[in-house]
Amino acid sequence: MQITVTQAQTLKPKPDETKLGFGTIFTDHMFNMDYSVEKGWHNPRIEPYGAIAMDPSTMVLHYGQGVFEGLKAYRNDAGGIQLFRPLDNFKRMNRSSQLLCIPGHDDAFALEALKQLLTLEKDWVPSEPGTSLYIRPTIVATDPFLGVRASFTYRFFIILSPVGAYYPEGFNPVKILVSKDHVRAVRGGVGEAKTPGNYAASLLAGDKAHEEGYTQVLWLDGVEQKYIEEVGSMNIFFVIDDEIITPMLTGSILPGITRNSVIQLAQHWGMTVSERKISIDEVMQAHASGKLTEIFGSGTAAVVSPVGELKYGDKIITVGDGNVGPVAQRLFDAIQDIQYGKAEDPMAWVVPVC
Ligand SMILES: *Cc1c(COP(=O)(O)O)cnc(C)c1O
Repeated sequence: MQITVTQAQTLKPKPDETKLGFGTIFTDHMFNMDYSVEKGWHNPRIEPYGAIAMDPSTMVLHYGQGVFEGLKAYRNDAGGIQLFRPLDNFKRMNRSSQLLCIPGHDDAFALEALKQLLTLEKDWVPSEPGTSLYIRPTIVATDPFLGVRASFTYRFFIILSPVGAYYPEGFNPVKILVSKDHVRAVRGGVGEAKTPGNYAASLLAGDKAHEEGYTQVLWLDGVEQKYIEEVGSMNIFFVIDDEIITPMLTGSILPGITRNSVIQLAQHWGMTVSERKISIDEVMQAHASGKLTEIFGSGTAAVVSPVGELKYGDKIITVGDGNVGPVAQRLFDAIQDIQYGKAEDPMAWVVPVC
């Protein structure tokens, strides 16, 4: 398929790179592609960034049939632009689509479209340390219809947003609250899909955590509320007695690409990594016996996010000395250096764009 390009008439001024936040500024162009039963995915095009006109009855607005992804483009020291494991994002998007009854797309074509869009928008990739261009591929159901069924038509789009460093003043360990009242997902549901409803369902627990002074919620399994699942939009790791433990993927957890990168790198370094069930009781006991040395989250936004404090019921624990631990620090530095092209890339994760 040939991608049609329509250039914007006027270009927006570029933002101050030292003052970038997250997700508020968008570039001049976006990628769009449509789906219909007769034509499949068709009319791929790069166009000026702009509003999408929708009938008020558009299905995604009512029943949430949609999926999305999140990845970043990084500027390396030579001025080039590169991606980190982008095909894994488009593959995961296809798995999400399957769970939401959305027709599959061609991963390789989606990556090609992204590369073309990035090449046109390359001046939007910031170069201040820690900054990047956040990429949001999305698919939404577009039939104007109020019946509950899968849509027959869809829109696939990609938008780009320059974002600031996650840790502008160095690592900032977060405080997390283990949710006892709410669950995020259950096995057999859509917890492993990046789909809007999962995030809507997490807001109330998030608000309650914020009211208590905690940044994020740590979710327990939806059946027994005993086993650890993940944090807000991050997977979670524990270091207990030199074993790096992360909950295994059971269908209710988002299979993070950063999670997988952490596992592969730590194994590459000869560390012991276990993907297994881990209960909140095991974590609390490991802390009581002094064996819990680190907790950290993993995700595209932060790469690695150390947890300094955890609250479960009326128990509050400080992890290690409340600062960033050596495993989290080493993983953060190594992954970030690969993403920005400052270090060897032993797993061939980086994909150059232009
Ligand atoms: C996106 C996401 C993650 C992290 O995935 P990455 O591919 O590492 O960015 C973890 N949990 C949830 C719920 C997510 O939405």
